[in-house]
Amino acid sequence: MTGSRAVCPFPSQQAGAYTVTAISDGYLSASLSLLSNIDADEADKMQHDAGATDPAAVHINCYLVRGAGRTILIDGGAGGIKQWGGRLHANLRLAGVEPGSVDTILLTHAHPDHVGGLVDAEGQIAFPNAQVLLHQQELAFWQDDANLSRATERARGNFLIARQVFDGYRETLTTFTDGQVLPGIQAMPLPGHTDGHTGYLFESANQSLLVWGDIVHFPHIQIERPDVSIAFDQDPSLAAATRSRLLDMVSSEELLIAGMHLGELGFARIRQSRGRYGLDYET
Ligand SMILES: [Zn+2]
Ligand SMILES: [Zn+2]
Repeated sequence: MTGSRAVCPFPSQQAGAYTVTAISDGYLSASLSLLSNIDADEADKMQHDAGATDPAAVHINCYLVRGAGRTILIDGGAGGIKQWGGRLHANLRLAGVEPGSVDTILLTHAHPDHVGGLVDAEGQIAFPNAQVLLHQQELAFWQDDANLSRATERARGNFLIARQVFDGYRETLTTFTDGQVLPGIQAMPLPGHTDGHTGYLFESANQSLLVWGDIVHFPHIQIERPDVSIAFDQDPSLAAATRSRLLDMVSSEELLIAGMHLGELGFARIRQSRGRYGLDYET
């Protein structure tokens, strides 16, 4: 009996007691004109040089975490909202996981491409046995009516999606500020992209892993050019500062990273030479 795990078709890495698997939700179509501090032609060239077939497509990953008696999902993909993603549930089944067996959902933040797949088309919760954990500031931001009243028309929709998810999971919704959220998993506040944007650090003597959320949307551009932010960043200059600080840290510590928009390969390391960062996928 080899079980489905042995034939899991998705990239996986071991970090401490946990097996972490990148589960693709598919793609969202963005535009290189959403980037700041770079002109669209240069951004387009960097995408082509990196081999991107559709330079404006942003890949969406979720991470399945199994071990220590738990089945954890980090973020829930877009669920087909705005025709973005929507492949998470089919791909989870390919990985041998039914929605009812997910016991914990860790959120990096509550943008629609991270929470849309947590509810179905009727707005019912898609993971009926899961406890949802997120940063206290992330929940507070989306629930603040003053923030909603200041929002643009596009951003108003994001509030409604986030609130629908929080409402659906209200009986299990739990917030934290920092520190250990589950055994061997530390929350790492990474503010800028959103107020409560959070990474998750899996600490292990053999191989540690940081799931860094939305530190980049276009990895082949923003790792080489950390000053380039995207219109999805709530605070673009803070997002850029956080990105630079984190790239410095993960490259000097040679830390394995995972990210929701890192690409289908799911895992990478960041190298630094002569003050420039580069991306090496871990395969
Ligand atoms: Zn985001
Ligand atoms: Zn995102």
